[in-house]
Amino acid sequence: MFLRPTITAFFFLLMALSATRFSLAEDTKPANTPGGKIEVLLIDGQNNHDWKRCSPVMMTTLEATGRFEIEQATVSKSQVADFSPDFTKYDVVLSNYNGASWPEKTKAAFVKYIQNGGSLVVVHAADNSFPKWKEFNEMIGLGGWGDRNEKDGPYVYWKDGKIVRDDSKGRGGSHGSHWEYKVIVREKDHPITRGLPTEFLQAKEELYDRLRGPGKNMTILATAFAKGGSERHEPVLMTISYGKGRIFHTVMGHSHTSMKGVAFQETLIRGTEWAATGKVTFPSVTAAELPVDRAVSRDPKDIKPAH
Ligand code: ZN
Repeated sequence: MFLRPTITAFFFLLMALSATRFSLAEDTKPANTPGGKIEVLLIDGQNNHDWKRCSPVMMTTLEATGRFEIEQATVSKSQVADFSPDFTKYDVVLSNYNGASWPEKTKAAFVKYIQNGGSLVVVHAADNSFPKWKEFNEMIGLGGWGDRNEKDGPYVYWKDGKIVRDDSKGRGGSHGSHWEYKVIVREKDHPITRGLPTEFLQAKEELYDRLRGPGKNMTILATAFAKGGSERHEPVLMTISYGKGRIFHTVMGHSHTSMKGVAFQETLIRGTEWAATGKVTFPSVTAAELPVDRAVSRDPKDIKPAH
């Protein structure tokens, strides 16, 4: 009679303790704590590129590091009207999406998420999307196609050691034929590029040129010379700040094959970690692993975990 309530209370205490343990499980640790995982929302489902084969390469690349946990939101054209994820659940949004416009409510929630310190990574043709969405174009800095032209902002490229903003008229977005292009690091003291070789080759693919956009609050980390295209040193890796948010934009990643390029993979890992946390803890590659005389590719499963 006397013991019973005590045993019941003890049972509830045990329940409460075990619930606490579950809420401290490793995958809920914030991204900035040791061993904490970066929660990524990968958005795909529409693209003029082969997103079905590209997204898995990106997912394996990030997951192989042991640093990221990815949720995939595949949004077909018929599903887009109902697309309204809770962006605030994620450390970073990774866009492999080039498709129909999102509902106004979702766009507003996304802008608020980035403004309040959210993060975005834009890969290749994801910078073709949403040509009429002003805030998105400010986030990505530069974009192409979708009738982009001088009304959307200047051409931005590298010439004689500095950035040129060129207001001349013309279409935004084009590319020459596919080749192994040389990436030249222009900003050597950024967490994403620090420790990388100064010059390296990306696997054979097209190189975007003549992108245009507002290009505000944008840092060009690396360029590549658009041989047979604009014949200019075009931005390849960029960071943009928008409100309190951090954005990493890579024009690399045309196909699932070129996404196996070590240049694409290393910069995606480093750029995604930086966007999510402001730091890069992933060890940088050596000039032997990322050479300038040949383009190296690898199965993303062979990427070694960071810790
Ligand atoms: Zn492409």
